[in-house]
Amino acid sequence: MNTNTSGHSDILVSGGGVIGLACAYYLARAGQTVRIIEQDGMGAGASHGNCGLIFVSDLPPLCAPGAIGHELIRTLRGTSPLYIKPRPDLSLALWLLRFAANCNQRHLNHAIKARDAILRVSGELFSDLFADEDLDCDFEQRGLLMAFTDPATMRGYQKTNRLLEPFGLAATFYDREAIRQLEPALNERVCGGWHHRADSHLRPEMLMTAWTRAARDRGVRIDEGCRLERFDTRNGVVSGARTSTGRFTADQFILATGAWTPAIGRQLGVRIPVQPGKGYSITMDRPAICPAIPCYLVERNTVVTPWQSGYRLGGTMEFSGFNDQLNERRLSNLETSAALYLKTPLGRRVTERWTSLRPMSVDDLPIIDRVPQLSNLFIATGHGMLGLSTATATGRLVSDMILGRHPPFDPGPFSLKRFG
Ligand SMILES: Cc1cc2nc3c(=O)[nH]c(=O)nc-3n(C[C@H](O)[C@H](O)[C@H](O)COP(=O)(O)OP(=O)(O)OC[C@H]3O[C@@H](n4cnc5c(N)ncnc54)[C@H](O)[C@@H]3O)c2cc1C
Repeated sequence: MNTNTSGHSDILVSGGGVIGLACAYYLARAGQTVRIIEQDGMGAGASHGNCGLIFVSDLPPLCAPGAIGHELIRTLRGTSPLYIKPRPDLSLALWLLRFAANCNQRHLNHAIKARDAILRVSGELFSDLFADEDLDCDFEQRGLLMAFTDPATMRGYQKTNRLLEPFGLAATFYDREAIRQLEPALNERVCGGWHHRADSHLRPEMLMTAWTRAARDRGVRIDEGCRLERFDTRNGVVSGARTSTGRFTADQFILATGAWTPAIGRQLGVRIPVQPGKGYSITMDRPAICPAIPCYLVERNTVVTPWQSGYRLGGTMEFSGFNDQLNERRLSNLETSAALYLKTPLGRRVTERWTSLRPMSVDDLPIIDRVPQLSNLFIATGHGMLGLSTATATGRLVSDMILGRHPPFDPGPFSLKRFG
């Protein structure tokens, strides 16, 4: 076991979300001394109350041909989970323009392959992780059920499903009768759906607690309540990190501060096209008729995740800058959505109402790379809606890059170079 009590470590990770934790874990396993600094508590950002899906079949990116038109129509109908707060924000305007430019067939083909590579490795590494560590996190592999109330939208999903066929990830179709046999918690409004068998789920805050403990047991030093203020740089390397609790040095630095990463990047002259995409969740006791399979309520973009220890509704995508206000309307939309699909949509006791910011990259692919101008600084962010699902592969890739090992998948699509 490595212990690391001085101000110097082999590796300094900024950000104690699932991505920073995964990087720290794989590097500690490889024998490095590792320190994580986290401004709040471990998992205080998006990694705590998310929907807990390890969504390995989620290959199409958000920026797909027709995505903008489709969302505009839903916005006009009032059924869109997307909300963009009107305000003068140049970086958001530029981000939206670049996102729109990525909504084309070429990017779709490219992104599907890249997402398959990282998700496939991540799924395998999660299996290894659960075999190697005792992580109590309500993990189950029951797949994900895409449930529909509109027959036309349901038929339209066939097109998405075809994209998954070459990757062996196509879902199985269930009609109105069959879907209620598969998942009796769905109500009469549900006209059918598609079952993706490869997906699994867990309770993310339990994973963060258990995995943090496992990382500590492997010698990772964790400083909570320690905010990275800025990096000191000299001759093309980072020489130290100035934080709210003092200065730390390391041989290699990893910046995994989620949606908050671009501000640190700007200090270093590194452009990181990531915007905060706000989401919400409500956690409660299991309802009287609780689904056994996690469900994606497609027309409402709401996820329902059941665990042995509880039940969560989550979703929405709000571009309203950096704020942690709980918007009551969006929270109640989650409940309304669940009531459209489920016999007993709510549990009796709400245990948490939560919001956080997803790090949304402009092409819906993570950014995992060494910073070209600073040879000992690595960035791991931009994981959008898939940060949990891709955490293990991200941690492994960063670890392999730092240690000069052969990466488990092609890192090219995740490089900083793609932004020019
Ligand atoms: C409602 C919702 C549902 C979701 N559902 C899923 C799902 O089912 N499956 C899935 O794969 N993904 C899901 N996601 C996405 C997933 O939660 C994120 O992609 C993931 O948590 C990002 O992890 P991260 O470590 O990059 O960021 P975060 O978890 O946000 O961690 C970044 C950390 O850095 C810290 N930090 C920031 N600045 C500093 C600083 N200057 N100094 C020190 N520390 C700093 C923050 O406090 C934070 O703890 C969901 C997200 C939301 C909002």
